[in-house]
Amino acid sequence: MAKKTKRSTSKKSTAKRSKKASKKVSKKTSKKTSKRTSKSSKKSKTTTVRKHAGGGRKAAAKKVSRKAVRKGGRGKARAGKLVYYFGKTRTEGDGTMKELIGGKGANLAEMTSIGLPVPPGFTITTDTCAKYNDSGCRLPHGMMNEVHKNIALLEKELGKKFGDDAKPLLVSVRSGAAVSMPGMMDTILNLGLTDESVEGLAEATGNRRFAYDAYRRLINMFGDVVMGVDHHHFEKAFETLKTKYRVQLDTDVPAEGLVELCEMYKDIYQKHVGSVFPQNPFKQLELAIEAVFKSWSADKAVSYRRIEGLFGLNGTAVNVQSMVYGNMGEDSGTGVAFTRNPSTGENKFFGEFLINAQGEDVVAGIRTPKPAEEMKKWNKKIYDQLMKIKTKLEKHYKDMQDIEFTIERGTLYMLQTRGGKRTGAASVKIACDMVKEKLITEKAAVLRIPAGDLTQLLLPSFDPKAKSVADVLTKGLPASPGAAAGTPVFSAEEAVERARNGDHVILVRKETSPEDVDGMHSARGILTSTGGMTSHAAVVARGWGKCCVAGAGDISIDADKGQFTIGQRTFGRDDTISIDGSTGEVILGEVSTIEPTLSGDFAKVMRWADKYRTMGVRTNADAPADAQRAREFGAEGIGLCRTEHMFFEGERILAMREMILAESLGQRETALAKLLPYQREDFIGIFRAMKGLPVTIRLLDPPLHEFLPHDAKAQQEIASALGVTLAKVQERVGQLHESNPMLGHRGCRLAVTYPEILKMQVRAIVEAAIECTAERIKTLPEIMIPLVGTRKELALLREATEEVIDQVKAEHDWKRRLDIKIGTMIEIPRAALTADEIAEVADFFSFGTNDLTQLTYGYSRDDINTFLPDYIAQEILPQDPFESLDQAGVGQLVRMGFDRGRSTKPGLKVGICGEHGGDPKSVHFCHKVGLDYVSCSPFRVPIARLAAAQAALMYG
Ligand code: PEP
Ligand code: MG
Repeated sequence: MAKKTKRSTSKKSTAKRSKKASKKVSKKTSKKTSKRTSKSSKKSKTTTVRKHAGGGRKAAAKKVSRKAVRKGGRGKARAGKLVYYFGKTRTEGDGTMKELIGGKGANLAEMTSIGLPVPPGFTITTDTCAKYNDSGCRLPHGMMNEVHKNIALLEKELGKKFGDDAKPLLVSVRSGAAVSMPGMMDTILNLGLTDESVEGLAEATGNRRFAYDAYRRLINMFGDVVMGVDHHHFEKAFETLKTKYRVQLDTDVPAEGLVELCEMYKDIYQKHVGSVFPQNPFKQLELAIEAVFKSWSADKAVSYRRIEGLFGLNGTAVNVQSMVYGNMGEDSGTGVAFTRNPSTGENKFFGEFLINAQGEDVVAGIRTPKPAEEMKKWNKKIYDQLMKIKTKLEKHYKDMQDIEFTIERGTLYMLQTRGGKRTGAASVKIACDMVKEKLITEKAAVLRIPAGDLTQLLLPSFDPKAKSVADVLTKGLPASPGAAAGTPVFSAEEAVERARNGDHVILVRKETSPEDVDGMHSARGILTSTGGMTSHAAVVARGWGKCCVAGAGDISIDADKGQFTIGQRTFGRDDTISIDGSTGEVILGEVSTIEPTLSGDFAKVMRWADKYRTMGVRTNADAPADAQRAREFGAEGIGLCRTEHMFFEGERILAMREMILAESLGQRETALAKLLPYQREDFIGIFRAMKGLPVTIRLLDPPLHEFLPHDAKAQQEIASALGVTLAKVQERVGQLHESNPMLGHRGCRLAVTYPEILKMQVRAIVEAAIECTAERIKTLPEIMIPLVGTRKELALLREATEEVIDQVKAEHDWKRRLDIKIGTMIEIPRAALTADEIAEVADFFSFGTNDLTQLTYGYSRDDINTFLPDYIAQEILPQDPFESLDQAGVGQLVRMGFDRGRSTKPGLKVGICGEHGGDPKSVHFCHKVGLDYVSCSPFRVPIARLAAAQAALMYG
């Protein structure tokens, strides 16, 4: 019963609770999810497919098609076209076509067009993936024909032949959706190698060892990724071979050993797959393309999309690109880089590279790479060329880029570019710097920063004083800023499980892999012992704004024992550690934190936001300290002061309980008289903190039994304190029980039944206003009546409120004006429907979209998590409607309530105070409707300011 009656008065907002729970979807659920997704996502896929293949588009596509295939020309989508080529001979796509050819494909085409050295290739569209999934995993008719034609183009451009025994063309096959999903889908390299062409490669490169190394990698990768053979079988064979050759490192195995290994791998393949390793390169290609399409629905990819809130995407594109090799010797290498620092935003090329290595080695975090600076010593020419490319890319894209490159025997090739994932702090700094550098305008900067990411700048950091005396165990790389403390856990599953039980955990791993995303998300922070700043853990953590220390090489982890060792010291699940993602420090114990301030670039962005926004931003606060903080964050008033929160502290709760347990008006008034001074002091504190800004005070809203204890021990304590029997307390608690308290005796209904409660609260407000005004503090109270559904309710309570105002003024002989407004919340659908009538007796409206969502959907805000994960997984709902406003449904009521209210009173002040007031998408909606302000919790005020500015710039 207690569960049913709980609501947001417990100070933790419902939205927060729902968010937490929805994040806690277990691995099991996500498995179920992926199975279901292929079915349930059909609808969204077909929708997007239609977008590209629409009838009207055909004619337009025809017009542009000749232009599109022109050498180096800008690409355009063409109906029915499944494959887009990029290379010197022609480039059919461009950077704007992310939805159709994926982010990677679009940018490969774009980089080719602007003259960067990109190995040629082609991209199979995301529509093709959608068609494949929609047709029960069958490749669309004609796709392989198009693939054959494009391979022929590649062969011509490179003067090589696919599967040739002299000069074989080899390709990589990689995924690439419209939105980047780092490491979540499959990649296969060296495709096209067969027993014959491997000899051709050996001959062409003059390096037999290299050729067979590439071949064994292909058989392994193809077996593992495409045919599902456990990687472990291949690893075991490699170990056996190394023992035979008495070597320890892979690189020490001679060419003949690798030839032998390829034979062993092919046997393993045949044993587990039931057929020989395909010797037809086109068969390899076809199966690899299918594997990439399938990886779209893999658990890890589905989890990632769920966590990131990515819905309605078509599928993945497939990029088939001619291979270049970073592992051809000491003059070759591979690397990844950000054109600026993605953690801090500093304008400094931020890269890492490995000499004589293949691309995946860097991202996988298996070998710790060297910082880009060291490239100067290794190959100054390549370093300088990369610096030129950095400038060219940033000028072209007008944003920080995340690039991948390979150097094959001293020649640089670009393999990828995309907008780099960055922390909130980096987002702000990069935007500000780019304005200074005249790369972008102030407005573009405001539009560019994801408003929600500002949360990261508002998070606490470790107190330098506490840190100076702390036991710093070691230092890793500052991979993603933040301050996190918790007990170490050693697997993703453990992190999910422990976090679900409310524990704060730090995920400690050698490295993370895409399979770990749920665990990474559940952990407070991530600590890895290998991997660099661009390892999987670092990239993913930064994208989420989660604290991460990577590559802390002193740490040796024994996951089986549940412990890690640094030097002579061992730590385990009984310890607490703190990690500082801004410095890389790993500290023993929980270090205390300090609150952030708005300064530097952050303050500048806020000033810009205030310049462009037209909607006000207030805060939801019910304590002077919160009000003060919100002011510092730029709140322009209080949009919701929930007075019930004021009744929980110290002796107040006793008086409150006395009031509730009272059996007569007299007893109730006695108890209320005890509460009056507390309320008055609270309001004085808030008025002082808000110094002349409006303060909307909501009268008591929750059902009364929320204030009563439900266990016998606490009930006995109250009975003793009040001098009544336990039975009496229990009887009253029983009387107050309701079957559906959220729909029961709460909100304005309380004031109708017990007007004395309203009288006490209004008296406290007026007395506080008189006292502050006398102190020359301007006060602008707005008394808000909750849960109104009819005009009469508000009319009656307005009259009662006005009577008290007049009475208190008379008692204090107060002749001067007090500017007190009386309004209501619109949180019951009927109130929105009859807002024209209600507006006759209201000075203002404030949409309570928490209750409005609850009552429109009929979803209990406290119980939604029993079914929300399934609703999200099956895409019945795109997201939690308590987190982001359902614009199509609840939004209609907001719009209607607004229009009807304003039709009665053109000057009616209208705001929103539900949790949605701090959600960027909902803020945009409120701007479009025309609300005067949004109100949200203090820490979301800067987010709302920026989102409001973005809405003003986007929608005028
Ligand atoms: C609301 O319903 O949106 C609201 C702000 O009130 P509460 O969350 O306190 O019910
Ligand atoms: Mg409400």
